Amino acid sequence: MRVGVYSTRLGEVPVSTACDRAKIACDALKGAYGSGFNYYSRALKEEAEKKQHILENLDRAISEGWIQVYYQPIVRAVTEKVCDEEALSRWIDPVRGFLSPGDFIPVLEDAGLIYKLDLYVLEQVLQKINAQKASGFHIVPHSINLSRSDFDACDIVEEIRARVDAARVPRDRITIEITESIIGGDFDFMKTQVERFQALGFPVWMDDFGSGYSSLDVLQSIKFNLLKFDMGFMRKLDEGDSGKIILTELMKMVTSLGVDTICEGVETAAQVHFLQEIGCCKLQGFYFNKPIPLDQLLERYAKGNQIGYENPEESAYYESIGRVNLYDLGVIANEDQNAFHNFFNTLPMGIIEVKGGAVRFVRTNRSYRDFMKRFFRFDPGMQSEARPIPLSGPGAPFMRLVQDCCKNGGRAFSDEQMSDGSTVHAFARKIGANPVTGAAAAAVAVLSISEPDEGESYAEIARTLAADYYNIYVVDLDTDRFIEYASPAGGEDMAVERHGERFFDVARRDNMKRIYPEDRDAFLAVFTRENIVRELDSQGVFRTSCRIIDTGVPMYVGMKITRMRARGNRIILGISLIDALIKKQQEDEKVRRQNLLFGRIAALSGKYYAMYLVDPDTGLYSEYSVTTNYNDLGFDKRGENFFIKGRSDGEKAVHPDDMPYFLRTFTRESFMRGVENGGIFKMRYRLVVNGAPRPIALRAAMVSEADGDKLIVGVNVLDEKGV
Ligand code: C2E
Ligand code: MG
Ligand code: MG
Repeated sequence: MRVGVYSTRLGEVPVSTACDRAKIACDALKGAYGSGFNYYSRALKEEAEKKQHILENLDRAISEGWIQVYYQPIVRAVTEKVCDEEALSRWIDPVRGFLSPGDFIPVLEDAGLIYKLDLYVLEQVLQKINAQKASGFHIVPHSINLSRSDFDACDIVEEIRARVDAARVPRDRITIEITESIIGGDFDFMKTQVERFQALGFPVWMDDFGSGYSSLDVLQSIKFNLLKFDMGFMRKLDEGDSGKIILTELMKMVTSLGVDTICEGVETAAQVHFLQEIGCCKLQGFYFNKPIPLDQLLERYAKGNQIGYENPEESAYYESIGRVNLYDLGVIANEDQNAFHNFFNTLPMGIIEVKGGAVRFVRTNRSYRDFMKRFFRFDPGMQSEARPIPLSGPGAPFMRLVQDCCKNGGRAFSDEQMSDGSTVHAFARKIGANPVTGAAAAAVAVLSISEPDEGESYAEIARTLAADYYNIYVVDLDTDRFIEYASPAGGEDMAVERHGERFFDVARRDNMKRIYPEDRDAFLAVFTRENIVRELDSQGVFRTSCRIIDTGVPMYVGMKITRMRARGNRIILGISLIDALIKKQQEDEKVRRQNLLFGRIAALSGKYYAMYLVDPDTGLYSEYSVTTNYNDLGFDKRGENFFIKGRSDGEKAVHPDDMPYFLRTFTRESFMRGVENGGIFKMRYRLVVNGAPRPIALRAAMVSEADGDKLIVGVNVLDEKGV
C-alpha cells in the first residue's frame, strides 16, 4: 500500500488540487516495492512544473532551436580514429536553462511524444551529414537513440526510412540504438522492428547491454549488429579482477556470435588499454570526447586538433583486426604452461600488420610486450610504428613466416632459437587485408618458450637430423595419402610442400624423371608397395639408393623407409644425398682392387718397390708400394700431376750423379713417346735408400681400363749387378 500526503503547510489550496498533489507524492513511490507514504514537497512541486513546462513547450523547443543535437565521436579501438558518432539531445531552455536528457526524455516518453524529438534529431543528423559530405569529409555512421514509445506513436521504421531516403543519405550511415530494456517488455514486436530496420539496411545496435536482466536471452534471438556495453562495466573494471573476467568473457561470447562491441563510459587510459587487449571493437567516452554541439565539433575538425575520421573502405579490415581477443586462451590451450595459470597472465599474443617489407605491431597484450622486451629488448607498446622486416638475426625467421602467412593466408608455426639458447614456438594466422593500403594482418601467439637449461628438445634434435634429408614423405599406408616436406636450401627448416594421394604411383612416376636412366629399372623393381612392406616387416627398415639427375650431374641419393611409431599405419621416407659417400666408397673399392692386382704382379715378377696407375691426360695417380722402405721415402700415395710430382719427389731421392738424366727423362713427353704403339718406356737411375745407392729400373706401359687408357708404372729394384 502506498500513501501520498498533501500538507497545508505548503499553502491552502482547493481540495481537488490537494488531492492531485497527494497523488503526485504517492506516484513518486512507484519504483519502491514495499509499502510507504510520501509527503508532497517543494522539490516535487518544481518537478511537476518542469514536466508540465516540457510537455507544453516541446513543439516550440523544436521550432525555435532550444533542442540541440550534441555529437559524441566513437573511436575504433585499433586505430583510435573516429568510426561513428552518436547524436544526443540537449534542451537549452530560455527560462529553465540547460536540461539534460534525464530531465526531459522520460517525460516525453511517458507522454508518448518522444517520436517528435527523435525525428527532429534525425533531421538534424541528416543535415549535418549532407553538410559534411559537401566539405569532403569521410562520412562515418551516425547513431540515433530510439525509445519504446517511438514504436507506439507511429511507424517509426517507415518515418525514418522516408526521411533518410529523402535526404539522399545512404541508409547504412544511420544507426539505430535501442536499449536493452525496451526489448524485454514486448519481445516479438521489437524483434520484428529490429529486423525491419536491418532489412532496409539500417544497422541496429543494442544500447546499455548488461544494465538489465534479459540480455542473454535476447542475444540468441535478435541479431544485433553491435552491442554497446553499459558504462556500469567500466565502473566495475576498477573494482578488481572479477569485473575484468566477466567483461572479457562476455566480449568473447558476443564476438563469437559475430556481433561487434562498444564500451561506453570509457574515462581512463587504463580502461582503454584493457579494452584494446580484450578485443573490444569501438570505444566511447569522455576519455576521447564529451558530447559536443555541432558548431564546436566542426570547429575542432577545422582546427585539425581532432583524431580524424576513418576511411569507411578500411572499416571492415580494422573490424577484423579489432575482434581478436588477446586473452582468448581457447584458441590455443596448452596444459604444461604453468607460468600462464593466471587469467590475465596469458600467452603472449598480438596482431602484426605487414606492408611491403615493413611490419607494425598493431595490437599486443602485456605478455607479448614482456616477451618482446625479454628477447628483443624492444617494447612495441600497445601500437607501434612500422619498422623494416629484419632479413637476418633474431626474429627474422618468424617475421618471414608472418610475411608468408599474410601473403598466402592460413596458419603457420615456427620454432626459433633465441640468442640465450631457448626455443620459441610461435604461431601466426592471417586475419585480413586492407584494400586501401594493401597491408595485411596476422594474429600471432607465442605458444611456448623452452628454457635453455632444458637442453635440446627432441624436436630440435630431430630437426637437425632431418636437415640431412632434402625430401621427407609421411605416407599413410591405409589411404595411400602422403605429405611431402622439402628443404630446398638444405639445412634450413623443412616446410610443408604439398599433400598428395596415391603415394606409390606418384613416387614411381615422378621419380622416373629424376632418376638417372641406367638406374630406373632397378628402382622400379624394388620400389613397390609389396616389397617395401615385406622389408619393413622382416628387417624393420627399407633402404635403397640410386642416382638422380636434378642438377644435371648424376648424384647418389639414399632412400630410407621406417614405420612411424605414432599410432596409425604410417611410414616415413627420407631421401638424403649420399653422393660424396658413395663416390668415396667407389674410390676405395677401386684402390682396393688395384692393390690386389699390383700385389699379384709384384709377386709374379720379382722385386718391385712400387707401382703407379696414372691417368696420362689428367696426371691423376695412385701408388701401390710393396716394401716399407719405399714408404719411408715419403712420396705421396695419391695425387695430381704425376710427372711434376715425380720430378720434385725425385729431387729428394735420386742419386746426384743421375739427377740431370732423371729430370730430363721423367716427363710426360718421353713416357708417351716410349709407350707409343704398345711399346714399353724404360728408365734406369739410382735411388739413395737408407744412405745406400740402389739401382732402379722404371718401366711403364699403357693399359686400357674401363674409364680410359692408363699408364702402369713399375719401379723395379735391381741387384748389385744391375739385374
Ligand atoms: P545513451 O544512449 O546510453 O548515451 C550515453 C550517455 O552517456 C550520454 O548521456 C552521454 O553523455 C554519456 N556519456 C558518454 N560518455 C561518458 C563518459 O565517459 N562518462 C559518463 N559518465 N557519461 C558518458 P546523455 O546525453 O545524458 O544521455 C542519456 C541517455 O538519454 C542516453 O543514453 C539515451 O538513452 C537517452 N537519449 C539521449 N538523447 C536522446 C534522444 O535524442 N532520443 C532518445 N530517445 N533518447 C535519448
Ligand atoms: Mg545511445
Ligand atoms: Mg548507453
